Amino acid sequence: ASQNKKLGIALVGLGGYSTHQLAPALQETKNCYLAGIVTGTPSKAETWKAKYNIPDKNIYNYQNFDQIAENKDIDIVYVVLPNAMHAEYTIRAAKAGKHVICEKPMATSVEDAQRMLEACRQNKVQLAIGYRLHYDPFHQRVMELGQKQVFGKVKSIRAHNGFTMGGPGSWRLDRERSGGGPLMDMGIYCVQGACYTLGKAPVAVTAKFGEVTRPELFSEVEQSISWRMEFEDGVIAECNSSYAEREDFLEGKAEKGWWRLGPSFGYEGKQGETSQGRMNYPNIFEQAWQMDGQAESFRNNNSSIVPGEMGLRDVRILMAIYESARSGGKRVP
Ligand code: NDP
Repeated sequence: ASQNKKLGIALVGLGGYSTHQLAPALQETKNCYLAGIVTGTPSKAETWKAKYNIPDKNIYNYQNFDQIAENKDIDIVYVVLPNAMHAEYTIRAAKAGKHVICEKPMATSVEDAQRMLEACRQNKVQLAIGYRLHYDPFHQRVMELGQKQVFGKVKSIRAHNGFTMGGPGSWRLDRERSGGGPLMDMGIYCVQGACYTLGKAPVAVTAKFGEVTRPELFSEVEQSISWRMEFEDGVIAECNSSYAEREDFLEGKAEKGWWRLGPSFGYEGKQGETSQGRMNYPNIFEQAWQMDGQAESFRNNNSSIVPGEMGLRDVRILMAIYESARSGGKRVP
């Protein structure tokens, strides 16, 4: 029976993603449910408590968060904070003996990502990253087309992901909290897309920052960045990410065919096409599938299909891309 117990999730950080995606998704999940919240904003605690029927004993703030260790209702802590805070809260959750789901990017430095993995190992808890697209049928098909060489060997990949930043004030523009600009936030989907198309990580990267046309917003982080990843056998992925332009696609060219997803990386409205015709898949509530999949693997004490090690791999790639953009040279992640 305990195999079928729904695991209790506590969301840490009740911002846009928790409010509009994760909490609604947790109303549909079968293997987990919204058991608790961690917030620095008392008014949100009141609203969420009423809306989702959360008992007072399952509501924490950033100061008393560590007491979650004693709370039997909470099995999983889901860290949905600004990027630079992921490491601290993942490590505190691990020390409290809770499994952790951490949002992307896992961390803002390789050292932080390594410390997070180490804390989870030492405390014998699982760590998964919020890479929802691994649970999406369009992206699963791309993995199959690329990795199983359905159209022969993959020759090249292109991926762009960006949106237009409204005004100032977002932590995303503040290096201290974001760790970087669109690359950290949106470009990571291009890195992921290329890696799961091939089932491999790149062996080298080169990168270039784009022009700054809105200096009032982009004084601390890049406005846009383009980069190239080289894989074994000479396969190249050309990528771009921007906070000044809406763009959203993932393409692959193979010896005997091609595919393209676009819109590709957002929550809804995905479309896909291959050299053989339109892809027909339902648009699913992927955050629900993701959390159900992760809860299921935690329940069986297995690592998830998007483990912390994958998060670390990607942080290494992101940091190599930034180093190359700063120095101009080729970098090995
Ligand atoms: P928001 O700015 O909307 O929310 C962040 C929340 O973090 C705040 O509302 C606040 O919640 C809490 N917080 C605590 N300390 C700070 C601080 N110093 N500055 C700002 N916020 C603070 O961000 P998002 O929800 O959009 O993003 C959160 C994380 O989720 C990021 O890592 C992002 O990359 C990731 N994300 C992932 C997506 C995906 O598709 N996988 C989509 C969107 C985001 P409170 O008031 O409760 O304390």
